[in-house]
Amino acid sequence: MNHDDLVHWSKRAADWAHDYHATLRDRPVRATCAPGDTAAKLPRQAPEQPEAIETIFADFERLVPDAMTHWQHPRFFAYFPANAAPASMLAEQLANAMAAQCMLWQTAPAATEIEQVMIGWLRDALGLASHFTGTIHDSATTATLSAVLTMRERALGWAGNEDGLAQQPRLRVYASAEAHSSIDKAVRIAGIGQANLVKVPTDSDVGMDPAALEAAIRADLDAGHVPAGVILCVGGTGIGATDPVAETLIVARDHGLYTHVDAAWAGAAMICPEFRSWWAGIDGADSIVFNPHKWLGAQFDCSLQFLADPTPQVRTLGLRPDYLHTLGQTDVTDFNEWTVPLGRRFRALKLWFVLRAYGLEGLRTRIRNHVQWATEARDAIAALPGFEIVTEPRLSLFTFAWRDDAATEDLLKRVNDDGRVYLTQTRHRGRFVIRVQVGQFDCTRDDVMTLPRVLAELTGAT
Ligand SMILES: *Cc1c(COP(=O)(O)O)cnc(C)c1O
Repeated sequence: MNHDDLVHWSKRAADWAHDYHATLRDRPVRATCAPGDTAAKLPRQAPEQPEAIETIFADFERLVPDAMTHWQHPRFFAYFPANAAPASMLAEQLANAMAAQCMLWQTAPAATEIEQVMIGWLRDALGLASHFTGTIHDSATTATLSAVLTMRERALGWAGNEDGLAQQPRLRVYASAEAHSSIDKAVRIAGIGQANLVKVPTDSDVGMDPAALEAAIRADLDAGHVPAGVILCVGGTGIGATDPVAETLIVARDHGLYTHVDAAWAGAAMICPEFRSWWAGIDGADSIVFNPHKWLGAQFDCSLQFLADPTPQVRTLGLRPDYLHTLGQTDVTDFNEWTVPLGRRFRALKLWFVLRAYGLEGLRTRIRNHVQWATEARDAIAALPGFEIVTEPRLSLFTFAWRDDAATEDLLKRVNDDGRVYLTQTRHRGRFVIRVQVGQFDCTRDDVMTLPRVLAELTGAT
């Protein structure tokens, strides 16, 4: 295959993509295959001789789409969305065509500068103070890891990077019990250790209790440990739990701790001013992560980290060996020094396309619709016999149960086998609950209201 063939096959791929999206509603949302089905259909070894693209493309059509869960399906209500707006897909095709490596300004000047401008556009769109700058990572997990490494090094006076952790005091990091597992992963990778991630008790509204945070920090200081940082959650994955940002930031700042806010999902909603009370006080944070690849429509991977001051993170992660020096330039930004991997994709391009193609107002309308339709679905489910709303909608996420744990789990299996909608579960205060989040880019009110209809049918309530 050469570049002339690529023109033809790119057009075929575009036609395929169009048909795929036009008929998505006819597919079951969740993959229907069993483990091992796909692998069993593939040859054991790579081919020695070239194969025709016709054959490869035909195999793709035959083997892949039916063995996928369809994240762009308008009735995907599981996990959180991983939206890919058409304008984002187009930008990714263009980024693909150049296949640039954006590690330094010099290796991709436009990518670096569009990234800087997009950080500014989104900072303002989310209503953040003008001192924030930032960068784009692959995922919130990496952004949080970067923040935790920064916390560690800042607390150790940058001795950990130099000397290793063996001789260091015991560091402590604080997060609420509702915090995402990416925070557990970050403290593990950072060598701080799971045992030193303090899960601070939450109040009745499942937000971190500021008094409990204060008490935990004091107890650690008394024990001779070194508190390093606090990670706050805005829109947690389970039920949308949100810490009181202003109050907990005051406690953290009183103790000189570095602060990181995980708003991976909920951050997108802050383009709507009426939701910003969710993270009131946010301008006091050192680091904030939100994923445009969730609710905003810039497809995976695109995770944005805002930084009040990039200096400590760059000091933690930045290295500049001879072969990465840009000769004759001193005041350019080399974003690899802000992030864990050296290599970087051109992720800002899809943000540029999405923000322009839909406009902030177009994106706001979608998010407002999703929040509204989630409330309508909640009301319809609450009215069905045997159903109980366990947690009320937080933005567009709520949970429900049907009769008891066993019945709820069985219902979830039947819903997902049915295939018209896709839902996933969590545990809340020990109970097995079914999560509903509304957020797919192309979903309609009718798609959302299919959910109570399916639940009514499957429980014999119709
Ligand atoms: C999705 C999510 C993450 C992890 O996001 P990735 O980008 O997949 O690493 C972290 N925190 C919260 C609150 C999330 O919703």
